[in-house]
Amino acid sequence: TSLQKEDLTTEGNSFKGHDMLAPFTAGWQSNDLDPLVIEKSEGSYVYDINGKKYLDALAGLWCTSLGGNEPRLVAAATEQLNKLPFYHSFWNRTTKPSLDLAKELLETFTASKMAKAFFTNSGSEANDTQVKLVWYYNNALGRPNKKKFIARAKSYVDWYHGSTLIAASLSGLPALHQKFDLPAPFVRHTDCPHYWRYHLPGETEEEFSTRLAINLENLILKEGPETIAAFIAEPVMGAGGVIPPPATYFDKIQAVVKKYDILFIADEVICAFGRLGTMYGSDKFNIKPDLVTVAKALSSGYLPIGAVMVSPEVSDVIDSQSSKLGSFSHGFTYSGHPVACAVAIETLKIYKERNILDQVNRIAPKFQDGVKAFSDSHIIGEIRGTGLILGTEFVDNKSPNDPFPPEWGVGAYFGAQCEKEGMLVRVAGDNIMMSPPFIMSPEEVDELISKYGKALKATE
Ligand code: PLP
Repeated sequence: TSLQKEDLTTEGNSFKGHDMLAPFTAGWQSNDLDPLVIEKSEGSYVYDINGKKYLDALAGLWCTSLGGNEPRLVAAATEQLNKLPFYHSFWNRTTKPSLDLAKELLETFTASKMAKAFFTNSGSEANDTQVKLVWYYNNALGRPNKKKFIARAKSYVDWYHGSTLIAASLSGLPALHQKFDLPAPFVRHTDCPHYWRYHLPGETEEEFSTRLAINLENLILKEGPETIAAFIAEPVMGAGGVIPPPATYFDKIQAVVKKYDILFIADEVICAFGRLGTMYGSDKFNIKPDLVTVAKALSSGYLPIGAVMVSPEVSDVIDSQSSKLGSFSHGFTYSGHPVACAVAIETLKIYKERNILDQVNRIAPKFQDGVKAFSDSHIIGEIRGTGLILGTEFVDNKSPNDPFPPEWGVGAYFGAQCEKEGMLVRVAGDNIMMSPPFIMSPEEVDELISKYGKALKATE
């Protein structure tokens, strides 16, 4: 049977037909279904407007690493609000929290050297900033044709780099492009490194990675290396279904990118600050990027803030050429917002003081093993992940070539069952994603596994 609207309606609250043009929400959803209205959070849980409690297995939207109501973050925001709620960072005027955060943030990144940080309000703005930085850099070097970007693509769910015009162009999902006249003409897409789905019969992970690196090199040669400015990748793909890279993938890709003087941008919006059990995804996969994007867990999601980190090589060119090209005329009113920066400084302090990596690595095996134990289910093709990030893909016959008919809504049904059980996960087609708060207790991980199991049984 196909998914019915009733399957998606849980707690009624009479907000259907509300006045908000809701992000990533279809008109029929906001018109016909009461939205889930979240009112409060506490540790690893959120509560809806009717008082129902949910285990937040997605940490909001891959954000609330320190869970709900962390008093130190509330105190940091309050103190800064009382002292200086706002001042900008344009024209060589700025605030102490933004200067302090830049220093603290740069110290957290050790996979390669980073010299400067630029602040934004979001991951999308940060990736847009990356594009402008790279263009400015190549203009400064007198290489006006070296402007194209290569991102990865996947036809059925998303390589997500954001939803502003440029960030959506870098993303690989047709739904983000169709009807919006995107992608922008400077973006090229290369293979998605999803071994389970795309490997050839008999091909090992290493051979698969070699083939993808060869394909990337062929794409660069076809376009002309002198036209390719940068390559952007998430260490582990998040929003598209959680896809860790196959063995040797980043070593081989980085070798190609380096060979043609192409900058490597690590989009660490989801992976940074401990999600994979290392401070950055770049640490885990030996990525040595020239530019890094962060957001989300930078403030544990408490206030909107993102950042771009820039290598000394790129920053030196930008600094030294500004007399010729003029200032780096790019920025947002709220770049380096003092309250968001104060919260981010406190977040980084808490990560350090509480040895957040140890905490993540303590609960990650239980989380990974507990959920992966359901891999034998006849409706599951693959459960994949590392650290505190996991994806489940539902298919028929355990084969990537046998998707369930979309109208069956298997993923949506599973998501609705989780919600009934009191747990929130991310659903994208027949992909389910989880990225719990770093602070989850072992008992809460047990609860997550038990709720996942009940939802799965109801879906089978
Ligand atoms: N990059 C990645 C990898 C993301 O997952 C996201 C959002 O989920 C973004 C960029 C965009 O960030 P934002 O929604 O803050 O604009």
